[in-house]
Amino acid sequence: MSTLILGGGVTGLAAALHLQRKGESVEVWEAGASVGGWMKTLPWEGGHFETGPQGVLWQKGTAVDRLFSAIELPFKSPGTGARWVGKGGSLIPVPASPPALMFSPLMSVGAKLRMMLEPFQPVRPAEPEEGLSAFITRRLGKGVATELLPSMIAGVLAAPAEILSVDAIPKLRQWEATGSLVNGIRKSGVSHMVVPEGGMGQLPIRLASKLGTVRVGLRAERMEALSDGRWRVSGGGEMREADRVVLALPAYEAAALLGSVAHQSAEALGAIPYTSVDLWHSRHAPLPALKDSFGFLIHPPEGRGYLGSLVPSWMDPQSAPAGVMQLRSFIGGAFGKPADLEAWEGVFARLKHWVPTLGDPAAVRHERAERAIPRPELGHRARIKAALEGLPAGVDWLSNARFGPGVRDILEGLETWMS
Ligand SMILES: Cc1cc2nc3c(=O)[nH]c(=O)nc-3n(C[C@H](O)[C@H](O)[C@H](O)COP(=O)(O)OP(=O)(O)OC[C@H]3O[C@@H](n4cnc5c(N)ncnc54)[C@H](O)[C@@H]3O)c2cc1C
Repeated sequence: MSTLILGGGVTGLAAALHLQRKGESVEVWEAGASVGGWMKTLPWEGGHFETGPQGVLWQKGTAVDRLFSAIELPFKSPGTGARWVGKGGSLIPVPASPPALMFSPLMSVGAKLRMMLEPFQPVRPAEPEEGLSAFITRRLGKGVATELLPSMIAGVLAAPAEILSVDAIPKLRQWEATGSLVNGIRKSGVSHMVVPEGGMGQLPIRLASKLGTVRVGLRAERMEALSDGRWRVSGGGEMREADRVVLALPAYEAAALLGSVAHQSAEALGAIPYTSVDLWHSRHAPLPALKDSFGFLIHPPEGRGYLGSLVPSWMDPQSAPAGVMQLRSFIGGAFGKPADLEAWEGVFARLKHWVPTLGDPAAVRHERAERAIPRPELGHRARIKAALEGLPAGVDWLSNARFGPGVRDILEGLETWMS
């Protein structure tokens, strides 16, 4: 069986490795100049910065662990750092344990009491698809849904929880299916944020080094079905025929290729919205409270387009020169970007609002992540179903829009896809 995989992000490369280990002949086409898609670590004077993921949730014996072992990827965990939610004008610590939450000012007493009833809530059937906020309200109460959820979701999907489907975070339904979220979380155990040595970009580089043929700078432009059931893909003056084509592409890129061969799939994939976000990387003198922390997320109504800031120099000390604290601030997303956040001065003013002692930066750089994050709005389930059902034999589509937003979701989804 020969498979041509289109897209050399982590999804395409990890899928290729799975198929290669099964004995298939696999070739990957990547449109960009290097592999990785959003997962790239770029050099920055004396360190580096990430264009996409900052870390991966790892746990022994899981899909992430199995992939890291298969490609012998060295990685490390920064441990458990403090994190905050910006609310009511100041940063409030996120409690590290359920008992600590009881004393936290993050939520009202009523909200905390209702939250404790979660294990006693009935499990609802998977259908019909529920909204994310509705799901959290049903399981944990309105307090959690309105006071805590918005900043957490803004930090992952850069979008308001109220417009999203519960399928935006697939783990939620999986946990509920075990009887309750508390039970599901307890059963799945604790994951740790880890970063490969040398940054996240080492993951796709190492993956590609284990594969036979990975072509970069080669964009697939056209697909056609052959009379013998095989597929022909062409682009960049090249042409390849294969038994199977796997589109490991964002939904809108897959839609463009499928337009002439699978109208239903192309239409459904084209209807999946994506969110853009602005990333500001800045270097400062370390602040004792912040430098060994994960960072903070802002309660969206108060953030007004400023979603929060992480501390990459804590997660990956190689990212910044010694004695320097590196921040990464997230702007815009589906919340929109007010005029004051177009330039660094405005972003810095917002940072200073939440961290008044933060000093002027020694260096700043800006990256625009255009259509970077899928936005699984209510109705996502029907779109995914229509897209997959409409695919012709010998064609498949793999993506974080199908499996879930994080690298862990993708790698778990790929194992299920393979089984
Ligand atoms: C800013 C940001 C922060 C994130 N933070 C985290 C995090 O901390 N932890 C976490 O787990 N996840 C995080 N994520 C999510 C994670 O990065 C993504 O889910 C994952 O990288 C998506 O990988 P992918 O291969 O599916 O897609 P992509 O990375 O989009 O890769 C698709 C590839 O296909 C190529 N391509 C497109 N069209 C064609 C074509 N026609 N022919 C050939 N190739 C084509 C593209 O060039 C690209 O390389 C973050 C994402 C972003 C954007």
